[in-house]
Amino acid sequence: MIIILSILITMLLLTIGLNVGIKDFKKLRGIVEDEKLTETIKKFPCNTEICKQTLKKLNKEDVKVEEDNSSKTSVYLVFKNKIVIGKANVITRIQTVIHECIHSTQDKRLLKFNVIFANINNLYLLIISILSLFNKISYSTATICLWVLALMQLTLYAVRSFLETDAMTRAEFMAQDYIEKTDYVTKEEKDKIIQTYKDVNKVGIKSYNYVLLMKALIRLLIYAIIMNFMVNLLWLNRKNP
Ligand SMILES: [Zn+2]
Repeated sequence: MIIILSILITMLLLTIGLNVGIKDFKKLRGIVEDEKLTETIKKFPCNTEICKQTLKKLNKEDVKVEEDNSSKTSVYLVFKNKIVIGKANVITRIQTVIHECIHSTQDKRLLKFNVIFANINNLYLLIISILSLFNKISYSTATICLWVLALMQLTLYAVRSFLETDAMTRAEFMAQDYIEKTDYVTKEEKDKIIQTYKDVNKVGIKSYNYVLLMKALIRLLIYAIIMNFMVNLLWLNRKNP
């Protein structure tokens, strides 16, 4: 019970401390739904074109590019060395495409570790949950499992936060450079887009890290609840042998 409470309190403190609220997510939505800006950004080349131009600038022409209109998210697949561009929001699309290009320049070992470790992490949680629920491990073993799980969340958070914060920060400057050096829109429109991208990042980086931390804490919470359930089971067994 103490563990569950401490996790809940940590979640609450994080929410207050990082000052993330519904207003941030509302602000993000307000920014990305501006109709006038949507029209302006349509004057830029298509996503694949921007992606290829950026990869060329980064000396990463070996990266494959693919558009997938059935997906809402864009991703860089490190094992396939391929960028898959989903149906990105029109306003943020330049920054999103550049963001994925930057991922392709990051340390390959770290990117691969991130993918593999995320899978191991989910599998580990599943296995210890099943073992605990079916009473296959003792409570003290479960406690050790919880600590290992906590350590894994910390590692996963550190790696992913580093990769994403790096890509988001660099994408802002690269997008700014790209917009300034091309002539698809007027000077005034350029300034408006650049300012918007700055605003998106300001809220975006903070909210992204917040969501990552929350996901990590939720995994811990799930296992802590299972452990609590285990204690009750053991207690019941002892009462009615
Ligand atoms: Zn990313």
